[in-house]
Amino acid sequence: MSEVTFHNTLTRQREPIEPTKGKLVGMYCCGPTVYAQAHIGNFRTFLSQDVMRRTLQVAGYKVLHVRNLTDVDDKTIKRAFEEGKALREVTEHWTRVFHADCERFNMLSPQIEPKATDHIQEQINMIVALLEKDHAYATEDGSVYFRVSSFDGYGKLSRLKERELTTTAADASPNDSDEYERDSMADFVMWKSRKENDGDVFWDSPWGEGRPGWHLECSAMAMKYLGNNLDIHSGGEDLVFPHHENEIAQSECSCSDHTQFFKYWIHCAHLLVEGGKMSKSLNNFYSVDDIEAKGFTPVALRYALTSSAYRQTINFTMDSLHAAQSALVRLKKFSDETLSAAGLKRAALLKAIDKGKHSKDSWGPLAKAWQTLSNDLNIAGALGAIFTTIKETKTTELSAEAAQELAIAYHKLVYALGYDLTQVVIEKPKVEAPEEIKALAQQRWDAKQAKDWAKADEFRNELTSKGWKILDSKDGFEIELL
Ligand code: AMP
Ligand code: ZN
Repeated sequence: MSEVTFHNTLTRQREPIEPTKGKLVGMYCCGPTVYAQAHIGNFRTFLSQDVMRRTLQVAGYKVLHVRNLTDVDDKTIKRAFEEGKALREVTEHWTRVFHADCERFNMLSPQIEPKATDHIQEQINMIVALLEKDHAYATEDGSVYFRVSSFDGYGKLSRLKERELTTTAADASPNDSDEYERDSMADFVMWKSRKENDGDVFWDSPWGEGRPGWHLECSAMAMKYLGNNLDIHSGGEDLVFPHHENEIAQSECSCSDHTQFFKYWIHCAHLLVEGGKMSKSLNNFYSVDDIEAKGFTPVALRYALTSSAYRQTINFTMDSLHAAQSALVRLKKFSDETLSAAGLKRAALLKAIDKGKHSKDSWGPLAKAWQTLSNDLNIAGALGAIFTTIKETKTTELSAEAAQELAIAYHKLVYALGYDLTQVVIEKPKVEAPEEIKALAQQRWDAKQAKDWAKADEFRNELTSKGWKILDSKDGFEIELL
């Protein structure tokens, strides 16, 4: 197992990942709110998490990846109301869209994908435990709030106490919205009593009808599925406060011994589009569909979204997609060359890497690229090192052994970065066919028109053996080099 380090928001340090139990890394990622198609900003975060998981796997760790689906909150309920549909119908539709998008991006599926609405009882149980220990209180309307002043550790993730607070626990009124940006220590809601706007979205609880607050679902589901492997917790930078701060408070206070709720907190910086915040009104709010409609593949978008440091804000531009496309062509050509020199097939090799078969194999000339990648996911640096190796290597001059080593090491990096190279099209240079080939192709076309299929096949085979390929259309044909 080789070392992988990440920047931990909790300690503000870069730290090697050391799982609490053996080689298994528990990794909880806050998932999408399924009320609309995820935008490319959301995918910057999800793709960075995918590279984190893949990098850990290539290093020899086993990863238990949990990513939740937020299928009940203020936004999902509002959407269902606007569309006059049941909440479930709306969230199931957007979940299917999300899964299809993940597949287009070649993302690994989490082993567990729990939904908030399937874990209402677990959330209620957590509130009960917190009430018993006086970390929470119920209000007259049947809501329950977390008592922030009861937890000394409140603010340790976002360093709230070191910042200028606009309000403190003593003077802030309790906050009942799912999302808020105020630097305040206001008590936050864990159970929201039923309101008129909630329609038929409510559950029974010891405090009456209502629904859980947004922060609670991740605490309850992370504890349920990763209670023994509280290693990595991750999300976009907007989640540091209040979402993750509140998750820590609820979870640590609900355990009898205040067990640390996750060791490593990893946050991905936001994405800007053409220098500004994405917004529907500025018409720069893109989904993967919008980018595909402009003629770019999901793999090119994946490249553009992940090729700079995940902790730096990136400015997404259409130019970055053009650059991504040409970089991917170079990566694919080198993949083809190394595979052919080593006598290996891409799909089989990637499958073996996915199963952890090559985690102990050496990195050879790609050692620097791997070191760079595994050091807090410096993808830009790793790509730089990969392109240097590509420039300096003549695959045709390698011994069989060196070709194998290089092909395996190179595809371990391709796997870690998650590029689906089958989406990359290498345009063949247009070459004028010699007269002899043109004549053969014409004879084949004539045989086909006369429905003499056997003869047409013969001509096609002859053309193939000479290295040419025929592309038929309705009214004629084109000749291309194989
Ligand atoms: P949501 O569906 O709003 O719950 O967000 C899903 C994930 O996307 C969370 O981890 C967010 O922090 C992250 N996120 C939201 N907006 C952006 C953005 N502009 N850039 C990067 N990540 C984002
Ligand atoms: Zn969460």
